[in-house]
Amino acid sequence: MRRVPYRIYLSENELPTMWYNIQADMPNPLKPPLHPVTKKPIRPEDLSPIFPKALIEQEVSRERYIEIPDEVQELYKLFRPSPLCRAYRLEKQLDTPARIYYKYEGVTPSGSHKLNTAIPQAYYNKLEGIKRLATETGAGQWGSALSIAAKMFGLECTVYMVKVSYQQKPYRKLLMESYGATVIPSPSPYTEAGRKILEQNPNSLGSLGIAISEAVEDAVSNDNTNYALGSVLNHVILHQTIIGLEAKLQMEKIDEYPDIIIGCCGGGSNFAGISFPFLMDKIRDGKNIRAIAVEPAACPTLTKGRFAYDYGDTAKMTPIIMMYTLGHDFVPPAIHAGGLRYHGDSPLVSQLYHDGLIEARAVHQKEVFESALLFARTEGLLPAPESAHAIKVAIDEAIRCREAGESKVILFNLSGHGYFDLGAYESYLSNTLQDVEYSDEILEESLKSIPEIE
Ligand SMILES: *Cc1c(COP(=O)(O)O)cnc(C)c1O
Repeated sequence: MRRVPYRIYLSENELPTMWYNIQADMPNPLKPPLHPVTKKPIRPEDLSPIFPKALIEQEVSRERYIEIPDEVQELYKLFRPSPLCRAYRLEKQLDTPARIYYKYEGVTPSGSHKLNTAIPQAYYNKLEGIKRLATETGAGQWGSALSIAAKMFGLECTVYMVKVSYQQKPYRKLLMESYGATVIPSPSPYTEAGRKILEQNPNSLGSLGIAISEAVEDAVSNDNTNYALGSVLNHVILHQTIIGLEAKLQMEKIDEYPDIIIGCCGGGSNFAGISFPFLMDKIRDGKNIRAIAVEPAACPTLTKGRFAYDYGDTAKMTPIIMMYTLGHDFVPPAIHAGGLRYHGDSPLVSQLYHDGLIEARAVHQKEVFESALLFARTEGLLPAPESAHAIKVAIDEAIRCREAGESKVILFNLSGHGYFDLGAYESYLSNTLQDVEYSDEILEESLKSIPEIE
């Protein structure tokens, strides 16, 4: 009965050797990022106190393909390719004519796709003589990935971890410390940005925006230290296209091509990673593909936010970027998909959404966990709560196919495993998980924090 294997791999010599840069193909180019103080377009040298030159170049490059350095390719081989899996058992359970595939990024040592960019970021920083990396982490996945990558290149690593996650996820902290990183709950008393927040609200549970401010301040005020970001920026998304490039080769092997591509969307990097190499075919060759970014209803950046210039962090230290945003003051409710709690979104994903090339959907956390368990109980893998957002919409689309009698090909990204998220599953299984909704007043208030830019 089975026509293709459960898992499709690639051999080492078939792995992609270049990343795909969608800036080469976008119908409308990105609006330039602005300096947070002068509000003029930033110059590359404005970013050099916190990023290595190679990454700044990638940030603005219009080259379609960018070579993956040999050393990075070698390290990728520790865990890549990630398998492309056919979800036969889920299909059967749903009684759908759709063919469902997922790319499983939980096979990386950090348990999510984030290591795909952590490795090249550590590599380029090492190359330029940097000794320490400072970063923030929400749910802990990015901090784990950067801790591992930093250690691979002999760099130190300081992680400002959003306080609510620090409290909810002690094992994530221990994982980072196992790789030698220093983990600090944010807001912390060690930076000006952290102290300011603590003065206003000593019980602040933190947010990604606040933690970013702290990490950037750390990098700016220490010469041998750079900053590393796990999502949102163009170079991060560039690195994550390894996911979609592999998926394309894997699907070619079995003579398949997706009709619908789905990824959960926090800052946008795993969604972009799996979908952009296919969107290239949509933009250049008119392929009929739907790409759907899935976000939590509690932090509905694309579906309820505004396309505007806004700061990337709460303390207004980062450049002002054109993106979908809920306002840099927005502190989303403490949902369990911590990796999706960011007020903004990748400028690349935002521009493509604005131009109608991709779709977005917001879903509630109870239905997300319901889908997560349906998936775990059919396919066997326990997904990260973030990834389960993509599963929820994949299931919805598969059911729609059943109702319409259409045998579409659905591809989604399973961005990570959920074995560090058992606290979240405990809440769901004990029936204490709530669907949290931001209030309209809070959203209205927070949208007001978006700066006026002519
Ligand atoms: C960080 C993370 C996300 C969200 O980040 P994106 O940049 O939107 O991909 C999603 N899933 C997992 C498992 C993560 O670790």
